[in-house]
Amino acid sequence: MGDTRTEISQLGEFKLINKLTKNFKPSNKSTVKSIGDDAAVIQGGEGYKVVSTDMLVEEIHFDMMYTPLKHLGYKAIVVNLSDIYAMNATPEQVTVSIAVSSKFSVEALEELYKGIALACDRYKVDLIGGDTTASMKGLMISVTAIGIAEEKEITYRDGAKEGDVLCISGDLGAAYLGLQVLEREKQVYLEDSNMQPELEHHGYVVERILKPEARRDVIEYFAKENIKPTSMIDVSDGLSSEIMHICEQSKVGCLIDEGAIPIHPEVTEMAVQTFGLDPTVCALSGGEDYELLFTVQQSELEKIKQFPDINPIGIITKESMGRKIKAKSGRTYDLLAQGWDHGK
Ligand code: ADP
Ligand code: MG
Repeated sequence: MGDTRTEISQLGEFKLINKLTKNFKPSNKSTVKSIGDDAAVIQGGEGYKVVSTDMLVEEIHFDMMYTPLKHLGYKAIVVNLSDIYAMNATPEQVTVSIAVSSKFSVEALEELYKGIALACDRYKVDLIGGDTTASMKGLMISVTAIGIAEEKEITYRDGAKEGDVLCISGDLGAAYLGLQVLEREKQVYLEDSNMQPELEHHGYVVERILKPEARRDVIEYFAKENIKPTSMIDVSDGLSSEIMHICEQSKVGCLIDEGAIPIHPEVTEMAVQTFGLDPTVCALSGGEDYELLFTVQQSELEKIKQFPDINPIGIITKESMGRKIKAKSGRTYDLLAQGWDHGK
């Protein structure tokens, strides 16, 4: 970030907005008017528009002690795009609103916007507006993402049917462990400020919490292979809670196979050896994985299996069968919103 510190008050609101946003150039033809007028203008088009908003609040959703601002900007965009992909839609625009206290310098906000720019560039979305205001304490970022989809492509949480296969992209539990590592390093630092956080050895899990990616590749694969999931949700709160949402809204039950839940080898090792945790519990109750959980008809399964990074983890059953998980031991337990009832 360099050593210069420019106070926000030195610049004033309008110069600040201009400084932060001047390099953003729209790339989607649906963006008719971007930053600079009273409102942005986007083309109506033929299909449906999909809109999602999320707010990140300092000390609630992130801790400035271990969150580089560039990563925070990137993540703020990505978590919103993930919601749009979870509707089987394509995001095209975002707005970003920030409330900032005087502890942040202009340079710090420029770092935040570097991360925002990186995400916009990588996911081909246009920053088309936002709002900038002061806050008494800390930083708040609210992002709204706007996407498009044809009516028949849009995938809701309520379409899962008995016999469908539940599938998950990527692997689970890493972000949760990443957060444990960051919290632990923070404690070390608070106790002795000469100790610097030791994060290098924890590459994968720390990257998963600080710099998550949204699964655009999965949505693109669906489009290319003409696959229509029957239901879909993104994993922000942990696998079991998302499965419960699908079951509740679709009025179905499920049977999950513990052994089929994809967990990265580093996660398994670190969970057990460093934190004394059950890796399955990390996957079920962790969160912030931003993978896609969806159901497909059995007939689609062959196509799904061609994709290297998607795994079937269970089947949809009748609602009256309940929501169950078959453990590696062979016993079956009730799935709970936070993990599973395995009697420990
Ligand atoms: P108004 O007074 O009409 O709300 P602003 O001065 O807040 O206008 O904003 C001017 C322009 O800059 C608008 O296009 C707005 O969407 C955009 N803008 C304001 N703050 C941000 C921000 N933090 N990020 C991106 N665009 C912003
Ligand atoms: Mg405004």
